[in-house]
Amino acid sequence: MGHKERILVVEDETSITNFISTVLAANNFDVLSAQNGSQALMLASSHCPDAIILDLGLPDIDGQRVIQSIREWSEVPILVVSARMHERDKVAALDLGADDYVTKPFSTAELMARLRTALRHSAQRKAALGGSAQEGEYHCGGLTVDYGRHRVFLDGEDIHLTQIEFRILELLARHAGRVLTYDFMIKNIWGPNAAFDKQILRVNMANIRRKIEKNPAAPQYLRTEIGVGYWIREGD
Ligand code: CA
Repeated sequence: MGHKERILVVEDETSITNFISTVLAANNFDVLSAQNGSQALMLASSHCPDAIILDLGLPDIDGQRVIQSIREWSEVPILVVSARMHERDKVAALDLGADDYVTKPFSTAELMARLRTALRHSAQRKAALGGSAQEGEYHCGGLTVDYGRHRVFLDGEDIHLTQIEFRILELLARHAGRVLTYDFMIKNIWGPNAAFDKQILRVNMANIRRKIEKNPAAPQYLRTEIGVGYWIREGD
């Protein structure tokens, strides 16, 4: 038997905790559970889980504060579960460092798929820290992004991108499969003090799509998460 990955479930509704725990156990995960934010912070530091499934609406500390506290010392993947329909809560959770979110009600399959993706990204991040972050490539279908040589190929053809366009594409490719918020992207590309200007990002995205998508109106690589940000398909 290999090492079981340990998941911390933070949720104050017992029925949901039981449901998620059962699903996790059936999928061969070890489960720890916390009913409130302070218990979650304690367990996160004492048991170092491999991932955290976090409800945003907790009785003591707001879920967003929990993300913030954990991110001060840990890169553990955090999957947010939220009943809240407001886009701004999702955006705030992602900006604070959550890896992904599912909105209640969600299916077992969706929860497991997102959890596995978050765990895989975390493993990839750890592996990347071991090697040189400057090197490597992203491949998906006919698209290749070569980080080291700053070049992009589409079906073997060399595609010319401006410096900014390349940095945007590289940022998305290095987080492939994960939604990056407008704010995260703008701060990353134009610096932490950049004014929040979604328009300049949108213009650059349109230019990149024009260069790498066969049909920019129905993109197969660069996806838009309306009201939240952008993501690129996972590499193959
Ligand atoms: Ca709750």
